[in-house]
Amino acid sequence: MLKYDSFYFQCPHCHAWLEGRNLKAELVNEAVLYSDGKVLNDNLITTPQKMIMCPSCGHSFWVEHPEEPFITYEKPEAEVYSWNTWRFFGINFSDNKGKMALINHYKTFLKKSHYEPKKEIYLRRFLWWAYNDLHRNHQHIRLKYFLNGFMSYGVWRCNRRMLLEGEKLFIRNYKDFTENLRRLLALLEKHPDEQIDLELPEIYRELRQFDKAKELLEKVGSRTHFTNELLRHSKWKDARVFMVTG
Ligand SMILES: [Zn+2]
Repeated sequence: MLKYDSFYFQCPHCHAWLEGRNLKAELVNEAVLYSDGKVLNDNLITTPQKMIMCPSCGHSFWVEHPEEPFITYEKPEAEVYSWNTWRFFGINFSDNKGKMALINHYKTFLKKSHYEPKKEIYLRRFLWWAYNDLHRNHQHIRLKYFLNGFMSYGVWRCNRRMLLEGEKLFIRNYKDFTENLRRLLALLEKHPDEQIDLELPEIYRELRQFDKAKELLEKVGSRTHFTNELLRHSKWKDARVFMVTG
């Protein structure tokens, strides 16, 4: 069964048709939430991609509130670029090269133009998540993930090598990571409507400002598993992104 509804839209520059996909919420088996707010459903990110680079002409454009006739649910007669050709700029995420390419795309977008705060927040948040992707699921390097039977030895070893290399790349790019996060923090503090739940304490935690993170978390009225986990990691002085539920 298809888990998606397809829709179609045109590049405003060359008018090529692109296929977009909306996940059918009722068919989602498994949602995973990470501390930085990234949610994966069936291993795919569900936050819509708003910055798109046309696979035909390379023109980049923003899709905020797509409306007819710009968007149609009827497959056009013309040739259509499939979702995989433009989704996350056609990047392959199975290795760290792809993850670094994604980081560089966001950095280029941010350098190329001046954006209104809402758009800059979107791009900086995706850049933050892209840096975190380098060492997301770092706990999988532990032998227990192989012993638990989650993956075969070959897959576990290969994944482990990629995560260890990803951690090195993360450390190498740490200055850029913190610069982006500081800028995102300043924007979110100015525009509280744009904040995702518990995003501010998480940013402080990832910036290693554990006391500030704890201070904000202590103020949260109704404690949830998410709040408790963030508090725990802040007390441990652990700044790495982690899986909250999954
Ligand atoms: Zn185009």
